[in-house]
Amino acid sequence: MTKNGKLYIIGIGPGSVEHLTIRARDVIAASDHVIGNGTYLDQIESLIDGQNIIRSSMGKEVDRAQKAVELAKTSVVSIISGGDANIYGMAGLVLEVAENSGSDVDIEVLPGVTAITASASVLGAPIVNDFAVISLSDLLTPWEVIEKRLDAAASADFIISLYNPKSRQRNSNFARAIEIIKRHKADSVTVGLVKNALRESDEEAIVTTLGEVLDYDDWVDMRTTILIGNSESRIWDNNGKKLIITPRGYHRKYDY
Ligand code: SAH
Repeated sequence: MTKNGKLYIIGIGPGSVEHLTIRARDVIAASDHVIGNGTYLDQIESLIDGQNIIRSSMGKEVDRAQKAVELAKTSVVSIISGGDANIYGMAGLVLEVAENSGSDVDIEVLPGVTAITASASVLGAPIVNDFAVISLSDLLTPWEVIEKRLDAAASADFIISLYNPKSRQRNSNFARAIEIIKRHKADSVTVGLVKNALRESDEEAIVTTLGEVLDYDDWVDMRTTILIGNSESRIWDNNGKKLIITPRGYHRKYDY
């Protein structure tokens, strides 16, 4: 007997399970199959109760997407992505694979808390104005394109969030990106670095400036998000904890 399938593409948030949406939790509970890479499956382990788990590894995204689309013809499938599935996550690839398969599988994308908002929450209010999000991974985007975007975003005084700052193969991308951003932004600009934001353990944050951020080059890794402020961002010492404030502009209109 065949039954109608469904494919959910789920952003599971930055780490600990309480930052997953209630709808995502309910959908995962009601799925026949849950597909994802090992790290993300481990993050939602407490929600697994009888669903068939399909573990996939990094670099196997195309296989994973094809498997999910195939299974969703007849069963309820959740394919999971860290953070939000639209932000350098599985949503794009899964839709492309479904489009090319010619099948009319029923797809729904569920949003999640992404690294920039998770990291911003750790640092207070660093992104409360226009921002640009740029991934430094040149596996799927040519480095020249990344450089052009860094230069353009910095020249327009956007707050800039860097994802995928490093990997074993791409150890120098972070330092190269900072040098490009420095062409337009002053050394005094506030910078926040957050590692493992909202994960159960190992969360760490550093508040520094663009002039000094490369002192932390060795500390930055693939679990780090970087938030580079705009020209109005500043540091506030809140009872010994350094927070970042980027003003929205209320001070130009109101007294407070
Ligand atoms: N889809 C994910 C991003 C995938 S790209 C999302 O929406 O968050 C992977 C990059 O995201 C990492 O290299 C890191 O820069 C960032 N990242 C993901 N989770 C993070 C966390 N908990 N803390 C800090 N950075 C994180």
